[in-house]
Amino acid sequence: MHVTLPDGTELTLDDGATGADAAAAIGAGLARAALAVKVDGELRDLARPLPDGARIEIVTARSPEALELIRHDAAHVLATAMLELYPGVRISIGPAIEDGFYYDFEFPEGVHFSEADFPAVEARMAEHIKAAEPFVREDVPVGEALERFVREDQPYKVELIEDLVRNEGVETVSLYTNGPFTDLCRGPHAPTTKTIRAFKLQSVAGAYWRGDSNRQMLTRVYGTAFLSKEELEQHLERLELARQRDHRRLGRELGLFQFSETSPGSAFWLPKGTHLFNTLVQLSREMGQKRGYTEVRTPVIYDAQLWKTSGHWDKYRENMFVTESEERELALKPMNCPGHCQLYKLQRFSYRDLPVRYSEPGPLHRNELSGTLHGLMRVRHFVQDDAHIFCTEEQVHDEVVGCLDFAFDTYRVFGFDVDIELSTRPEVRIGTDEMWDRSEAMLASALESRGLAYTVNEGDGAFYGPKIDLHMTDSLGRSWQIGTIQLDYNFPERFDLTYTGPDNQEHRVVMLHRALMGSYERFIGILIEHYAGEFPVWLAPVQAVVLPISDRHAEAAARVRDELVQAGVRVELDDRSESIGRRIREAELQKIPYMLVVGDREAEAGTVAVRRHGEGDLGTEPVAAFAQRVADDAPSRYTANR
Ligand SMILES: [Zn+2]
Ligand SMILES: [Zn+2]
Repeated sequence: MHVTLPDGTELTLDDGATGADAAAAIGAGLARAALAVKVDGELRDLARPLPDGARIEIVTARSPEALELIRHDAAHVLATAMLELYPGVRISIGPAIEDGFYYDFEFPEGVHFSEADFPAVEARMAEHIKAAEPFVREDVPVGEALERFVREDQPYKVELIEDLVRNEGVETVSLYTNGPFTDLCRGPHAPTTKTIRAFKLQSVAGAYWRGDSNRQMLTRVYGTAFLSKEELEQHLERLELARQRDHRRLGRELGLFQFSETSPGSAFWLPKGTHLFNTLVQLSREMGQKRGYTEVRTPVIYDAQLWKTSGHWDKYRENMFVTESEERELALKPMNCPGHCQLYKLQRFSYRDLPVRYSEPGPLHRNELSGTLHGLMRVRHFVQDDAHIFCTEEQVHDEVVGCLDFAFDTYRVFGFDVDIELSTRPEVRIGTDEMWDRSEAMLASALESRGLAYTVNEGDGAFYGPKIDLHMTDSLGRSWQIGTIQLDYNFPERFDLTYTGPDNQEHRVVMLHRALMGSYERFIGILIEHYAGEFPVWLAPVQAVVLPISDRHAEAAARVRDELVQAGVRVELDDRSESIGRRIREAELQKIPYMLVVGDREAEAGTVAVRRHGEGDLGTEPVAAFAQRVADDAPSRYTANR
């Protein structure tokens, strides 16, 4: 028989040869490193016979599939240890997930399992891993498998098999055995348990059997596994950093915002958080003004008719807050576009008026499920740095280039690295192929004219047009989509939006949607975690705190504060009778960029001793010089043509 390798070469093997045989035929080193085999794109055990004529690829520790494979292995080893340590425990399912794995258990009456029990379980798992127990697959008739799991009192496995019979009509199921443990499992698995070189149990949570709240509550044990100790340690370090930087935690500690059950998914912004919010809105406003944007204000609540015209009533109604008044159905806007279309339609435009660029930091509401809400990252009430451009087809190229320049100027202010994706026509779409060819080419040429590298995301465009998505990578290496520039032929059609051309005829206008920061709420959440709460000076809610060394410097310190307030510096005075060391420590914890110490010498000379957060002393300078230092850290410093 023959199989084809990724480089196209053909390999001749004995009939019935397995993935392990193929690896051995390629080389002894590969045979040792092999973990699994991809057969025509499907991951399989090395021990299974290969089909004649297949395209195969040997999977090793270096393959992207390796982590998922060993994490699934680790889930089985976890169940092995649990069955030994907790006789009578019932097992349900144990898949690999992003960043790790879990297994769900039902403990016998009276057993209270907690994270304190992890060391014992981990020690038992380590023994099984050290023993390099092979994973052995066996395909058995359904009846035999049912008999086995009934005998072992594993009702969840029995139910899973019964469902496989009912829904897929299977006659055999596969079992995997490692050491003393046998599980119902599709596989695949690595040859033995020893490829799990590093693992850790992480947390315990409740989880309903099959996610159904009417059924048994099980105990879910989460863990992670890696191919090396170093990778595991790096991963745990990143988790710890992320935990320390969690925007919900910092939001509370730095006094930025709160949440309350009286309005789930809507932030209550405290003065310092409101400052962040307003500063970003103002930044977007000023940058927009210089680029020909005009700000508009449109209603929050609209008759259902508008949402029927826009298509939201059909496609998006579940996510909208709907109400009624005087027997009319009304809904809160989940996005600004339909209101902007309505605003455009209320006027008349000629080709000379175009492009029209409307921006609006308007309040939006989306009825997200309460279980999916997450701090500022996923909310029900938010505001976007949203704008819509109405232009002629000929103007699209320049408008997209303008949006890209605006985007990069914005991201430069924050020092973000940006990745660009061009998302093209999805399967379900409106418009002709010719329209899509043209619009995709327009976005691509706009990107190319700025020399911007991008990846193409086939089929991920909106149903009404292609889009450019902008992703930033934060200081923890996580990627966030923040900006989007979308070409839209649909709304102009639905709302019948036109302009009068030079030929005195009405022509269809083209619409662009663009948001560069996305929602301010989420953007602030990302900034908090990216900066670990140490905002740049221009953005920091409090830029400096004045600290008199003792009571007799309080008056001079108050004068410094007043002078800085007049100079536009956001400054606080901390003249509490705590020691100077303690007040400095507290200011450091609040991550205030500058601490200005006033003692005898400073009081006499009208100066301040400047201390930078996280850096230490910068020396003494006149108050006016310090004010200038703060003023110099403006967003415009980071971008030339703001
Ligand atoms: Zn499994
Ligand atoms: Zn829009």
